[in-house]
Amino acid sequence: MAKYSMVDQENCIACGACNSVAEEIFGYHQDGISFVKFGDNNGQVPIPEELEDDLEEAYEGCPSEAILIQDSPFSIA
Ligand code: SF4
Repeated sequence: MAKYSMVDQENCIACGACNSVAEEIFGYHQDGISFVKFGDNNGQVPIPEELEDDLEEAYEGCPSEAILIQDSPFSIA
């Protein structure tokens, strides 16, 4: 099943962990706050299947639980 992800930027503490385990998925803004590269953090673009293990690792390693994952596209607020 496809996985969708986005970073809750209110909770991201700019620690850098997600990019170090999944650099193809996560990028950083100038202030160090992370974003999901696919769909520019809008949660609408599925993460490529071959990157799902990296996504899971980043999710588990995020100290502030800022990485959100679900099986369907996120609704746009
Ligand atoms: S691991 Fe979590 S807190 Fe750290 S930069 Fe990534 S999203 Fe932000």
